[in-house]
Amino acid sequence: MESKDRILLPGLQSFAERETALLAPYAMRSVDSAGRKHTEPDHPYRSPFQRDRDRILHCSAYRRLSGKMQVFTGDMGDYHRTRLTHTHEVASIARTVARALRLNEDLVEALALFHDIGHPPFGHAGEDALNECLTDDGGFSHNQHALTIAEELEIRYAGFPGLNLTAEVLDGQGIRADKENVELQPLLEVQLVDAADSITYDAHDTDDAVKLGLLTLDELAEVPLVAATILRVKKRLTNLPAELLRPTVVHELIDLQVSDVFRHCGQLLGQSGIQSVQEARLASFRIGPSAELAEQKAELEGFLYERVYRHPNLIQVRTVAQARLHEMFTHLLEHPEWLPKTFQRRSERVGLRCSVGEYIAGMTDRYCNEQYEALFRG
Ligand code: MG
Repeated sequence: MESKDRILLPGLQSFAERETALLAPYAMRSVDSAGRKHTEPDHPYRSPFQRDRDRILHCSAYRRLSGKMQVFTGDMGDYHRTRLTHTHEVASIARTVARALRLNEDLVEALALFHDIGHPPFGHAGEDALNECLTDDGGFSHNQHALTIAEELEIRYAGFPGLNLTAEVLDGQGIRADKENVELQPLLEVQLVDAADSITYDAHDTDDAVKLGLLTLDELAEVPLVAATILRVKKRLTNLPAELLRPTVVHELIDLQVSDVFRHCGQLLGQSGIQSVQEARLASFRIGPSAELAEQKAELEGFLYERVYRHPNLIQVRTVAQARLHEMFTHLLEHPEWLPKTFQRRSERVGLRCSVGEYIAGMTDRYCNEQYEALFRG
């Protein structure tokens, strides 16, 4: 229910009225939220999901995404995406589709801004190293770590630990962390953010890899989806200057994926007769690309895996980063006095090994390298 203290100027809608007017019957409405762990009164004019978005945006783990690599490291220049700019691109694409499908944009935005917040330094290489360090302690996963950040590590509010996000945002992330034990389908908003994540990295990793010179657009044209995209661009823009080909192909690659998901899902949702969130969660329907595009994306991802993610330059960065994380982990276990006071205190509750893992996971790439230098060469 909305608070009685809500501010409502004459002629303006409350967030609940706006959602009722705009959202599809299968969209998650904030008035139907299962709420927060620590009960709080509603905000006078922001919906609960808008508040979640703002809490995520203002937390320190979110800001540190700017210093964490997505695929390419800061040593390779400053053109490519960081974990933060990737997150923004996901949020932008997810919101576009959410609005078109009349899903809850505020929830989608909160989920998108939250989805990668648990990433440690050095991307998946860092995650793999921390997972090895913590094998006997349940391992490490960035999806699970996002929940620890949101529920325990961010200390910013007087009334509760963590960010006290709504159950829908936490559950959506929980499904990312544990895809096995899911009884109901995720909310459509959660499914959409997953689809937007995939659209985003397929397009921007292609862009970054070519811009960084790891491969050429001609080499990428071995992939049918890229070849078809280049053809579409050249057919539409006959006098396109050569230097605009790559960015134009990337725009087209985003547009055709977004349009495919919108057309495919819009049609299926329209035909399905789904009339509630509950029906959507019981349905076999999933938000994502058409079967044809899914196949083309898998080919592109296979190519990127072989030719970009396993490029010798990246393997070298990953190998160095992983060795550093292992060394730091071991050293901090032996010298817990090097841990910041908050993590020393936290080790009394969660154990030293977990606390060291959480401390390292919070580092940016640059801070991690600085700490390594200070610990071993200082
Ligand atoms: Mg992502």
